[in-house]
Amino acid sequence: MLRLFTFLFASAVWSLPAHAAGPALATLAERSGFTQTGRYDEVIALCEAFAQAYPRSVRCIDFGTSPEGRAMKALVASTSGALDAATARQRGLPVVLIQGGIHAGEIDGKDAGFLALREILEGTAAKGVLDRLVWVFVPVFSVDGHERFGAWNRPNQRGPEQMGWRTTAQGYNLNRDYLKADAPEMQAMLALIEEWDPLVEVDLHVTDGAKFEHDVSIQVEPLHAGDPALRTVGRAWRDAVIGDLAAQGSLPLPFYPSFVVDDDPASGFEDGVAPPRFSHGYFWLRNRLGMLVETHSWKPYSTRVRITRNTVLSVLGQVDRHGSQWLQVTRDADRRAARIGGVEQALAFKAGERKRMIDFRGYSYTRTPSAVSGALMTHYDETTPQVWTVPLRDEVRAVVSVSAPRGGYVVPAAHAAAVGELLRRHGVAFNRLAAQAGADVETFRATEADFASVSTEGRQRLALKGQWKAERRDIGAGALFVPIAQPKSRLAMAILEPQAPDSLASWGGFNNAFERKEYMEDYVAEEVARDMLARDPSLKSRFERRLREDPAFAADKAARLDFFYRLHSAWDERYNLYPVMRIDHLPR
Ligand SMILES: [Zn+2]
Repeated sequence: MLRLFTFLFASAVWSLPAHAAGPALATLAERSGFTQTGRYDEVIALCEAFAQAYPRSVRCIDFGTSPEGRAMKALVASTSGALDAATARQRGLPVVLIQGGIHAGEIDGKDAGFLALREILEGTAAKGVLDRLVWVFVPVFSVDGHERFGAWNRPNQRGPEQMGWRTTAQGYNLNRDYLKADAPEMQAMLALIEEWDPLVEVDLHVTDGAKFEHDVSIQVEPLHAGDPALRTVGRAWRDAVIGDLAAQGSLPLPFYPSFVVDDDPASGFEDGVAPPRFSHGYFWLRNRLGMLVETHSWKPYSTRVRITRNTVLSVLGQVDRHGSQWLQVTRDADRRAARIGGVEQALAFKAGERKRMIDFRGYSYTRTPSAVSGALMTHYDETTPQVWTVPLRDEVRAVVSVSAPRGGYVVPAAHAAAVGELLRRHGVAFNRLAAQAGADVETFRATEADFASVSTEGRQRLALKGQWKAERRDIGAGALFVPIAQPKSRLAMAILEPQAPDSLASWGGFNNAFERKEYMEDYVAEEVARDMLARDPSLKSRFERRLREDPAFAADKAARLDFFYRLHSAWDERYNLYPVMRIDHLPR
């Protein structure tokens, strides 16, 4: 009952006519009753219009240019007097980065953000919330994608009538690009993040998926991963925003509502930690907070914009109240992160097998054979709410872990340019090393290198197995040293640990090292093998024992010849050797 009351109250406030509140700063969405959304020229115009209407509280900035030549716009909003990053930093003000349209078809964030900003500045909502923080608002991240405008770009979404497209003009899904940063738009975003160092980042989306009553999901990291004290902050922030939304009549979820088994509601849900290709899997590596907001695609656009606007106001309210304390936790986390050398670190996570049953507000549905697909089809009856009691697996644990290097990473000169450029974009510190013969290092030699058979985001991914082992190798001139003793130590590991889910190696950045490049002709290998057998009786007995005990080996001509080739000085000792090394000490 209480919930019903607050919901009706919120709806009544919501239905105030738009023109009562500054039509010049209203979006097409608002003026059309949330049936349409504007084109990108509206963003450019509104950015300027807000800055002109509120010159002491809003600045309109360009932070990049898209591949199709569009200006990437952000609004910097604060009533604290700090409208540039240096002043914000100097005064210790928390910075909130909120972005819409990373997937440009899911455009709720743009219209909700403009609405929330106007209401705050007019004092009709969250009055004074910008007095002690700086809000950097990117209405549309994927600006070229936004202008690939059409009516059916989101077939499983109710409104607006037309919207943008999921990927950039170059075909990148920006929410897979945080770590590798291939897209110029992402490179611009990382520069914006480096400049402002936001305490929290909020990424506004719309789900795909099934039909049910829940209208929004809120996921935060650090919560399962990263600095322990920051996890506590992350959980408090998530729970507070969920609490605010519930009090306003929403049915928020703390996990992404996609079924464990596609199209099968009975299979339930699982929580996890997204890998750092995603926004909310990225910020914990910087000891900052990231939130993924997903409104439910089947709610009408007006409802989704209202919920997104509520979320934005809740986020700002939480940072207004707790931001200075949370900033202190991030500063401490930065110091702690510089001391993880030698300590086991989780690189990838998954929900464990343990499940608990939850009540989920779904609709009545049927699963019947389909003449179209020849398989079971699901049909939801949106007129009949039904509580589903389904399993949720939310005991998230590490599935890939490795000890951090005690000293840091050594990137050989041959790879210094490309790796250095990426590290610089992420603000990971490194310096140049002097040459050193016979250095004590750790190397990673892959025992398995599994190339993906399909392309992902334009790259051929590579899964590696193996481990770091002590070895003595030369460090040539021009190598880079990436110290683990820095605040972004976890980010350095995410990029440079070969088994991390979004490392450079996993995205195919070192594929050459795992391709066999040199061969010994079979007839040469035959001669070499005969020579070796004649010279080394113990080798001969090892070979003969292998033939007896390993029938697969005995039947494999290439393996039998390789048995000798691998022991010969002609064998390529760099085959399957990951070029980046680790050292235990600070270099001289
Ligand atoms: Zn999305």
